[in-house]
Amino acid sequence: MTTVGILGGGQLARMLALAGAPLGLRFLVMDTSAEACAGQFAPLLVGDYRDESALAEFASRVDVATFDFENVPAESAQWLSARVPVFPNPRALGLAQDRLAEKTLFRELGIPVPAFADVGSRAALETALAAIGLPAILKTRRLGYDGKGQFRLKPGVGNGDSGFGEAEAAADAAWAALGPQADRVGLILEAFVPFERELSVVAVRGRDGSFRTWPLTENWHVDGVLSASLAPARVDPALAEAAIAHAGRLAEALDYVGVFALELFCRDGELLANELAPRVHNSGHWTIEGAETSQFENHLRAVLGRTSGATSMRGHACMLNWIGELPDSVSVLAEPGGHWHDYGKSTRAGRKVGHATVRADTPEALAGMLRRIGDALGRQAQVEPVIAALSR
Ligand code: ATP
Ligand code: MG
Ligand code: MG
Repeated sequence: MTTVGILGGGQLARMLALAGAPLGLRFLVMDTSAEACAGQFAPLLVGDYRDESALAEFASRVDVATFDFENVPAESAQWLSARVPVFPNPRALGLAQDRLAEKTLFRELGIPVPAFADVGSRAALETALAAIGLPAILKTRRLGYDGKGQFRLKPGVGNGDSGFGEAEAAADAAWAALGPQADRVGLILEAFVPFERELSVVAVRGRDGSFRTWPLTENWHVDGVLSASLAPARVDPALAEAAIAHAGRLAEALDYVGVFALELFCRDGELLANELAPRVHNSGHWTIEGAETSQFENHLRAVLGRTSGATSMRGHACMLNWIGELPDSVSVLAEPGGHWHDYGKSTRAGRKVGHATVRADTPEALAGMLRRIGDALGRQAQVEPVIAALSR
């Protein structure tokens, strides 16, 4: 009997455990909270990721370790990797934890990125703004997720002056918001990209170097949090090929093992890389019902050194995220291609508590299902951009 250890016990660990059950796998989940929702399906070890005795117990009880949470300290992952195989490797994890290192690597690999600059001080912010201009986004280099730790610098913020005065006012506001964290987590300024669409490549690389991706996914965010995903993305096949090539190069460079997502912006038909998520990804949840093999199953197969399953999909799939609270499931379950996921979490503003996946054979049928669900739930704004994309 093989036991997979997962650091982090949120919904990703929960869905990994669910996917692993038919494979005969056991799990041990480690989380700082006794309430972690994966604990409803797998034994839960409550402990701090920096606590060596907790990590030692974790290592002694598992055959292989992986992550549901990308901000597990890279040193803890390193410490563990001396005791038990850890996938993805701690170097890949560490790189994805630092937006500056990540964007620098993208650029080295010939993967285009928005203009960016390291911001170590208020003066450096001034210099970075002069180079990058407005609008821009100041982000923490480390520990950000779901759009947290970000400040958007726009013209018109502050005193409304033009030219330097405007940038100065925006810099003041941004520094007031994030400056106090600069020493602890670092900061990076990025050009704001007025993208036409956001895309992600969800990919899996095996221990043997085999590489597969699911069809490109189109994503919509609200306030920095994923709201909806559509697969396959309605884009030119050449663009999809370029995105997949970027992901392949990245996986090779990092000797990555497991599932990851590469988030991309598309602007004027060009791709710009945003970030690498070193784990199964929210934009890949549709693969549970929409693909031959789900991202969760393939992640497990990869970290265990087994052959990855086919990533082909059937028809068209849309995932809708439920944030803060779960709506009524009736309208989703009434659709022939409707599937419901309740993560078993308590409700809290901004928290991902579940999702629905809707699958159909044609774009028209999927649009019809989404319209009915959106109307029933009063969530037209959430489904409308997906319906518009389906008619492209
Ligand atoms: P995640 O939950 O995906 O890990 P995160 O906190 O790491 O989120 P990002 O992915 O960097 O944050 O940003 C969240 C969202 O904010 C993006 O998906 C995009 O919609 C928007 N965004 C981020 N950076 C930029 C940018 N440079 N230009 C335009 N929009 C951006
Ligand atoms: Mg992120
Ligand atoms: Mg992101």
